[in-house]
Amino acid sequence: MALISPDSLERVKQTADIVEVISAHTDLRRQGARWVGLCPFHEERTPSFSVDPQEKLYHCFGCGVGGDTIKFVEEKEGLSFTDAVELLADRYGVELEREKEDPRAEARRQMRRRLEELLDRTAAFYAAYLWDSEEAAKARAYLGERGLGEEVLRAFGVGFAPSAWDKILLRGQRAGFKVDELREVGLAQRGRGGGEYDRFRSRIMFPIRDRRGRTLGFGGRAMRSDQGAKYVNTAETDFFHKSQMLYGIDRAKAAIAKAARAVVVEGYTDVLALHQGGFEEAVGVMGTAITEEQVATLSGMVEEVVLALDADSAGQEAMLRAQRVAAGRRMRILVAPMPAGEDPADMMAAEGGAERFRALVEGAVELSAFQVGLVLERTDVSSPSERDRALNETASVMAAMEEGQVASREELERRVAERLDLDPATVRSRVVTAQPLSGGLSSSAEPEISASGRRSPQQAPRRAAAALTSRERRERSLLAMCIAMPAEGREFLDALSEAHLSPLGARAHAWLRENPEDPASNLPHDDAELAALIAELVILAGDEPASAESMKLNFLLLEQRRLEAEISAAGEADDYERRAALSRERAALVERIARTERVG
Ligand SMILES: [Zn+2]
Repeated sequence: MALISPDSLERVKQTADIVEVISAHTDLRRQGARWVGLCPFHEERTPSFSVDPQEKLYHCFGCGVGGDTIKFVEEKEGLSFTDAVELLADRYGVELEREKEDPRAEARRQMRRRLEELLDRTAAFYAAYLWDSEEAAKARAYLGERGLGEEVLRAFGVGFAPSAWDKILLRGQRAGFKVDELREVGLAQRGRGGGEYDRFRSRIMFPIRDRRGRTLGFGGRAMRSDQGAKYVNTAETDFFHKSQMLYGIDRAKAAIAKAARAVVVEGYTDVLALHQGGFEEAVGVMGTAITEEQVATLSGMVEEVVLALDADSAGQEAMLRAQRVAAGRRMRILVAPMPAGEDPADMMAAEGGAERFRALVEGAVELSAFQVGLVLERTDVSSPSERDRALNETASVMAAMEEGQVASREELERRVAERLDLDPATVRSRVVTAQPLSGGLSSSAEPEISASGRRSPQQAPRRAAAALTSRERRERSLLAMCIAMPAEGREFLDALSEAHLSPLGARAHAWLRENPEDPASNLPHDDAELAALIAELVILAGDEPASAESMKLNFLLLEQRRLEAEISAAGEADDYERRAALSRERAALVERIARTERVG
């Protein structure tokens, strides 16, 4: 398989009927030149999802998703870009031409397919071995005692690795694979003496699959007490990055999309027990905390992540980082703390366990509320310095809460004031000045931008329109008008600089300067965040009235923001002369703005 040629890519885009493709997922009705409907990416009652059949773009004004037909298929079907193009080409009868490409790239792809095949064959072997072999009898008994039935074990491909040192090595080689290949996918490892042997022996094997159900690695649980680590995973390889994987995502993705919620648990057997008990939106993090990458993976699919983890782990530093990623993506992280000493698999196996688990999930509390509670619970209120520490810690958590969570935050502030015996106004003012731990909407916490000026596609935030700052709303409005009125827009695109814009806005600005004619015809498919914003801007450009006056006014207001940032920087640098000069500039600008407003 070689690269798809730009010509046939263009034909796919032109031929595919975006309204038809999207209609399979939500009912659309015509409204003027557009089609609108309930967003298939988030739960809503009034339609904020808009499809532009001419430009072949979609955008949700509620959750911020957007892009072209290919993007929609990628997101909704969980496919890669190439697979999405192939699916559409197939459906609309477009013959895909491939480009001649670097033979090394082709070789790499073939190599990867070979390795995938090796992993698949091995997984199938382990699974058959669990059910058929004498030496797996104890493993079958153990899984049975944990209440796991054959049906769920087979569905997840659970298996057993033989105790022999070289079973997998020999089988692999007999099937034509090299020892290097076995080592590359983490099935074989080299001993001190230089010889190779099977990495997994005498263990219950859990294949770890990606969204599409391809096995990329394994988790192995020891069956004997003399076996060293209770759990051994595939080592990090080019193939397998544990921190990015969610165990069970291939079986859970449909239920997750339907419920717009994922239930996150620690272990393999927890996931199995929950799926067996009807909680099909359960996935495993294979550790004690959810990682930033895992949050990013889920952020396109869910609004709510319920962590059913050990209560202690929910207070961890790692959780704060995960929350930082979730903040601003219209994603709530909730905690359903498991009772001490009990994991979800234990609970599900016990009488009435499913009901108890359901009640825990339904009663889950916001991560921030949970963390504040944890700090308060552990504070010795008889010590003033302890109370100070608790105030600082809780203030940081509360400062990171989103703009829309005013009532929840005030409720927490009252709890903190009461427990620490402080005046509520003191708590409030501490929250206002606190540095948010998890970023939230403050610009200082914008994620790093790589040298190419692009963030990785998984990091695309899903931010509700209501959560935009006024600067972001203003810059979007101005950029959309530059698209609507390209001749006049040119002047403003030239005048705008990074200092006027948010980081994402600056990338959109650069994109519009590079693609002035038709910004949406070739959306960047490796940068979902930018693609979604460009789609939004093009749709806005068709919707909102544009005029030279309102463009000018928006620009001047952004200019005022820029000046104010410079004034405070000069103040901080004790450069009073510069500050005075800038202040005069600002005064003149404010007057210009007032004049422009009168004209408008
Ligand atoms: Zn939406």
